[in-house]
Amino acid sequence: MNNISLKLICCLLIIFNYDILTAQIIDNFKSHTTILSSDKMEGRGAGSKGIQKSGDYISEQFQKLGLQPLKDGTYKQYFPYPDQKEPEANIIGIISASEPTEKSLVFTAHYDGYGIRKTEGTEDSIYNGARDNAVGVAALIELARIYKNEKLPPVNLVFIATAGEEFGQHGAEFYLEQPVFETKKIIFCLNFDGFNVSGKRSDFFMMPRQGVDFVDEIILTAQRSGWMYNPPEWVDAMNKNFDSASFLKRGIPSVTLWAGDRLLGGEIAPKLNFGDIHSPFDEINEEWDWSGVEDHLKLYKRIADYFMRSNKNVLVKNPELFQ
Ligand SMILES: [Zn+2]
Repeated sequence: MNNISLKLICCLLIIFNYDILTAQIIDNFKSHTTILSSDKMEGRGAGSKGIQKSGDYISEQFQKLGLQPLKDGTYKQYFPYPDQKEPEANIIGIISASEPTEKSLVFTAHYDGYGIRKTEGTEDSIYNGARDNAVGVAALIELARIYKNEKLPPVNLVFIATAGEEFGQHGAEFYLEQPVFETKKIIFCLNFDGFNVSGKRSDFFMMPRQGVDFVDEIILTAQRSGWMYNPPEWVDAMNKNFDSASFLKRGIPSVTLWAGDRLLGGEIAPKLNFGDIHSPFDEINEEWDWSGVEDHLKLYKRIADYFMRSNKNVLVKNPELFQ
């Protein structure tokens, strides 16, 4: 076989392999979301059996992927939770850097939810938390899978499914008090809270868009893969609402990204009928369109790769905005 046809075959094999991986990722994403938002997880409320089961499920996924556990050999970092006897647990899996270093890139997605509570006008009392935030955890697990299939990264990758986010970002706060790698050497934190299940989209926005010096770099990185930056005004009101805020207020660069409402051609998409978050109606329904999941995941990965490879120091100029 000559050299050119050998190269061609190698190329095709790589493309073929990549397509199989992508197809698996979408199926896995659906399956994690379905399981984590099912009634048996009881809305993943603090102190419930359901949140324990969810934590076990995520640990099992990290183990299957071959992520490194914590020093005690488990994936669970327990922390005290206000007004509760039982602790809550962050689920943490690691991909170590190719060379020893304290530098890390952190990925977070909260897996806790509102649990079970009586709600006027419905018999359904389980706040399933499908969009908030079973989808984010599904994205976290599948991004870990993508990185596991690549060569070892130049910095440590830390994947954290946080608990206690809904009522005060307790899990993210605890991790930053007792981190696996020095907090001063966290180069960036990418947070997943919500994820695109509205079909293919061409625009995105993020929190924060002020008080930091890396917004333009993210916009440019996204534009290179065809995304248009289109922030709604209300996003600034969300500065303190996500796990990213725990990082930002300590001066650690962090971002949460969402897809916008523009279709691939640029026109505004028809409004989808999703159940409200923080209600019993945050469930998977027939309006969900999973076709945009892959693009959204790739956007996160591009941004993570950008900060991992560009040895630039980006800054949070106004940490007080996130306190
Ligand atoms: Zn959330």
